[in-house]
Amino acid sequence: MQQKFEKKINGMYIDPSIFTKPFVKACDVCICSGECCYYGVYTDKSEHEIIISAKDKIISHMDDSQIKEDDKWFEAPEPDNDFPSGVAVGTEVYNGKCVFLDKQGFCTLQKMAMVEGEYKWKYKPLYCILFPLVIFEGVLTFDDEHLDRMHYCSVPKNQVSTIFDCTKNELRHLLGEEGFEELLKYKDEYLNEQKTEETEIEAA
Ligand code: SF4
Ligand code: SF4
Repeated sequence: MQQKFEKKINGMYIDPSIFTKPFVKACDVCICSGECCYYGVYTDKSEHEIIISAKDKIISHMDDSQIKEDDKWFEAPEPDNDFPSGVAVGTEVYNGKCVFLDKQGFCTLQKMAMVEGEYKWKYKPLYCILFPLVIFEGVLTFDDEHLDRMHYCSVPKNQVSTIFDCTKNELRHLLGEEGFEELLKYKDEYLNEQKTEETEIEAA
């Protein structure tokens, strides 16, 4: 997969289609009910450990639609090189949704951090923060398979923006300020090249 892409930032290849792929302007769980969380997520082993270390606090923020036994929260660990530790641990699905999704469509891990005055993504797995972006085989791209399952953000009439524009904060979180600036530059270069190619085709 990597050979198709030219630009690398922070060791990751960048799929430039994130700049143009249509998407909603912003996520709104009041509309979508947090549907992307209905299937659970893979966490890195280190993220799994951070979550388990805060289990008592997490339980106190759960509602009656969620399972409070922490030994039912995760699947068995498995090897996966797309995760920094080389080990992925999936969250379980309970009541038709990730064990950490509450009945209002909010992620308990994020809700808890915000209520407790901590950084909002302190406990949230990276892949949850990033979606619809994903890191697949060393490439920052988008998860079209999961996106196709969605009933709000995958509907063309709702896609008035792009994945890039909707996920700027998430990209900053992933790449850091410097990496994000590099991405911005690459975006301008890429889109200018596209324009030039289109003009040449039209003129031919
Ligand atoms: S990615 Fe889609 S389903 Fe998930 S919160 Fe955003 S709008 Fe909702
Ligand atoms: S951990 Fe939170 S954001 Fe991730 S899938 Fe579960 S509920 Fe959604």
